[in-house]
Amino acid sequence: MLKKKITEALEPLATLFFPPHCAHCKKRLESGVDFCVDCEALIERIKAPRCESCSQPYDCATGEFTCPNCRGEAFYFECAVAVVRSRSVIRDLIHRIKYGKEIWLARVLAQIAAEGLEDPRLVDEEFDAIVPVPLHPKRLREREYNQAEVIAENLSRIAGIPVLGALERRRYTTTQTALDRRNRRQNLRNAFSVVKNADVTNKSLLLVDDVLTTGSTLDACAAVLLERGASSVRALTVARG
Ligand SMILES: [Zn+2]
Ligand SMILES: [Zn+2]
Repeated sequence: MLKKKITEALEPLATLFFPPHCAHCKKRLESGVDFCVDCEALIERIKAPRCESCSQPYDCATGEFTCPNCRGEAFYFECAVAVVRSRSVIRDLIHRIKYGKEIWLARVLAQIAAEGLEDPRLVDEEFDAIVPVPLHPKRLREREYNQAEVIAENLSRIAGIPVLGALERRRYTTTQTALDRRNRRQNLRNAFSVVKNADVTNKSLLLVDDVLTTGSTLDACAAVLLERGASSVRALTVARG
């Protein structure tokens, strides 16, 4: 509480010394927005029609539907909500937070992720905790932080839902191309486990990551959380590949 008050009191000072700039092109901005008009226009929000399960947008579909990739595929998560397409401005931001050590972008990306909480698939859910997708310790050493975790922490402040670091990544999954789909799923699932003292029993969890590509990482994480007694797992990512 005190920390919050101090931060609020220092905010005008911060804007004096660090005037707001566009998070993408660095153009000087007037006030409390993260992007200039030009960059904002390049951010594509995922809107219906899109797959109920994995958020893949489809131009031709109407109403609620499940895409060909998800049909017949029983994911462990209830749904995976992605807010924007991973293109141009967003792709650049995600690249910079992952490989450019620009940890401050977590705030900007969490702000976008927070829009996903208004999605009809998530809005009525009372989440007990936000669980970030973990990084393997080797990657963590290279990057110095887990981008999913810092995004989750910022999202936690916006949404008032606590973060629970319930998962760890044990195995270094590099190339999976030699495996077929089923084996790939099993291989990935073995890579994650619930940390020793994390209690996920009967909890409704919101799994958070930066990008959703095939959904298989989120699926593997959801599987181990449900195995340990979580009541449900829904996923939220900033972007979708
Ligand atoms: Zn810009
Ligand atoms: Zn789908």
